[in-house]
Amino acid sequence: MTLRLVNPATEQPLAELETAGVEETDRAVAAAKEAFPAWRAVAPTDRARLLRRLAALVEEHAEELALLETVDMGKPINDSRRVDVPLAAECIAFYGEAVDKVYDEVAPTDPSSVVMIVREPLGVIGAVVPWNFPLLMASWKVAPALATGNSVVLKPAEQSPLTALRLAELASEAGIPDGVLQVVPGFGETAGQALGRHPEVDMIAFTGSTEVGKLFLRYSGESNMKRVALECGGKSPHIVTAECGDLDAAATAVAWGVFYNQGEVCNAGSRLLVHRSLKDELLERVVKVSERIRPGDPLDPQTRMGAIVDETQLDRVLGYIDSGREEGAALHLGGARVREETGGYYVEPTIFDAVSNEMRIAREEIFGPVLSTISFDDLDEAIAVANDTVYGLSAAIWTDDLSTAHRAARALRAGVVWVNAFDKGDITSPFGGFKQSGFGRDKSIHALEKFTDLKAIWIEVGS
Ligand code: NDP
Repeated sequence: MTLRLVNPATEQPLAELETAGVEETDRAVAAAKEAFPAWRAVAPTDRARLLRRLAALVEEHAEELALLETVDMGKPINDSRRVDVPLAAECIAFYGEAVDKVYDEVAPTDPSSVVMIVREPLGVIGAVVPWNFPLLMASWKVAPALATGNSVVLKPAEQSPLTALRLAELASEAGIPDGVLQVVPGFGETAGQALGRHPEVDMIAFTGSTEVGKLFLRYSGESNMKRVALECGGKSPHIVTAECGDLDAAATAVAWGVFYNQGEVCNAGSRLLVHRSLKDELLERVVKVSERIRPGDPLDPQTRMGAIVDETQLDRVLGYIDSGREEGAALHLGGARVREETGGYYVEPTIFDAVSNEMRIAREEIFGPVLSTISFDDLDEAIAVANDTVYGLSAAIWTDDLSTAHRAARALRAGVVWVNAFDKGDITSPFGGFKQSGFGRDKSIHALEKFTDLKAIWIEVGS
């Protein structure tokens, strides 16, 4: 079946490619299985060298990859250049540098035995990734999986397969053997499901919606009980307390925390919880920052907000804006599709005030530039509202009071909690969710754990 890609910034045709269906996905899995024994036998120092070479090639092709990412999914070229591509290269290099520095263990048993606790690769990994950070999400899965000696079949999102395909070519150029990394640019229901149900796939590493994450659990249960790691949706609370010492910094973080990448971010700070005493002042400053984040041509280096990925997502976002109005929230900024005259799917930064945590715009992941503002009177109430969600990906709190910071950081049920910051992170700190935001961690040394199993080898040596 042919996939016709559309540039979301213009609605003009971009590329056509043949998709991988069930049969092609089966062939990719068979090739990955065949490649696995030799790849796992490669010395970690040699796997490390190959990954570092791949990272260098990503850097060398940075401009090309940035351009592909931007025309494929609509994000500003400045972000693709400054964030997506360099972070992908850094991630691949990190696991290349890490994997020959991680040691196995010897258990402290009776001296008559030697018990080695070794980590072994799982086999064939199905990596299924979304369209919001296509290259970066692929790198978060592919790099630690390859570093630990697994082979990978990567399914990019149907909206944004181009950088994944280029990554596979670069991997080949780097010397990574055939079959070790393959890309199946197909649809979720066919290629994605085929990986999820495949008896020879040993693990699924997924990023995407909670709804599809649950499907992968079902596929696993109905097939070979493959391991599943899920990085799913979020509805992250961004709390600004009355003890916030730098309201300008908080306002900047609130605006960028939800409008960055057109709001198409799993950990977007889409719920602003603000102390009632500062609400008006904070919103005024957030609006000021937001007015500088106008949607524009993604290929213009000055543009700070690009196009929504496709028409379906555009309709989804506009539908949520309608639902906010209908449920009685007060539209404070934006609320409309813009730039229709240029073609493309653009939504302006949108802020709702007077939101209650029961409204759909406060409960459901919108994945667009929509901020819901909820006022609170005391910290316990803020924490209760923050935690009143099925998600638990991230949370943030602004306060100059150390004990408030500490108490809240412990009480917030989320995989990442920021204090006096939002969306800070680097490759050394783990990322992933509590509750229905999933389980398993991307990034950091901890990501290596989920791509391996522990084996205890008990050798009886006698006394
Ligand atoms: P999905 O969760 O549907 O897609 C993520 C990946 O899963 C894609 O590669 C997709 O393939 C694949 N997939 C979809 N359906 C199936 C299936 N039945 N079986 C196996 N694999 C499948 O996200 P969408 O792209 O559709 O976005 C919808 C909503 O999901 C967004 O509005 C947002 O709320 C949320 N989302 C959350 C993300 C996050 O990081 N938390 C990332 C992306 C979306 P295909 O592209 O072909 O559908």
